[in-house]
Amino acid sequence: MACCHCRESRETARRTTWPRRIDRVDNCASRRKRWNVNRQLRKRKGKIIGRGIQWCHFTWNAVAGCKHGCQWQMPDGSIAECYVDPIAAFFKKSYPEGFERHYWRPKILQQPLSLRKAAFIFMDSMSDLMGAWVPEVQVRKVLEICRQAHWHKFQLLTKNPGRLPKFDFPANVWVGVSSPPDFMMSHPLSRNQQEKMLAKSLSVLAGIPVPVRWMSVEPLSWDVSKIVADNQPLSWAVIGAATNGRNVYQPDPEHVANLLEVFDKQGVPVFFKGNLWGNPAADPWREFFPGHEPSPFMACTLGPHAVPIGS
Ligand code: SF4
Repeated sequence: MACCHCRESRETARRTTWPRRIDRVDNCASRRKRWNVNRQLRKRKGKIIGRGIQWCHFTWNAVAGCKHGCQWQMPDGSIAECYVDPIAAFFKKSYPEGFERHYWRPKILQQPLSLRKAAFIFMDSMSDLMGAWVPEVQVRKVLEICRQAHWHKFQLLTKNPGRLPKFDFPANVWVGVSSPPDFMMSHPLSRNQQEKMLAKSLSVLAGIPVPVRWMSVEPLSWDVSKIVADNQPLSWAVIGAATNGRNVYQPDPEHVANLLEVFDKQGVPVFFKGNLWGNPAADPWREFFPGHEPSPFMACTLGPHAVPIGS
């Protein structure tokens, strides 16, 4: 296993990952005529200056807003909020009634179809498409566009996996669940509740007939490794810290190490979010995709250091 060991590579990656820029990316669609979906990879004078959400090229939120109100209790005792809250507060025009509302944006529904070059598109970075409040007809319209735009890979994440079996997902949608937070809708979740939620999420996910089933543990705020070990191996996993604006809350390195041990035993490729940088458990660095393919972003920023796990 090897990936970007040298100090220079680390420095490059640190400079090119800045989650704070997601807000700018998400609001730039109207100005980017050529790429109608939000661009994730940003360049200035030909140089990469930021990667937004590092594991996708674009975000696309035909359904926006979320009522889950997630919060995390981090190891240092601080409470991390959902990363999109401050972004939505900043972009008041797009979220006039705040983030904890439902917004339907039919005007951008067709955007992926006009994007000719194949891309990874995160389809609910500012929402939860499977949220109980999202009308079924809207979900079906979004999935229909995914089906039509078959040359793209769409990445879906939900904290309401119970709704997944209701829908027929095209094979180019990577269906994923997020690990349960420590608070939802202002209510604290006990560890027992979190464990049950996670076990249920993973077991529902295992029954969804798509080629890629994945999980996001960003942030990783408690030790999820045992539950993950007891379930069917995933196709992919993303691990990260919590970010609120400039504040980054690192997970306990032991929790990261325990989870990596399980994923390695199961052969699950792992992608580290850039905000995990500096966490002792995230060494050597990993940016892999389903099938253990190295990150195309990593390849373009760090060149030969992006090599598959096991090589
Ligand atoms: S489900 Fe996602 S978007 Fe919704 S509050 Fe939780 S972290 Fe934020």
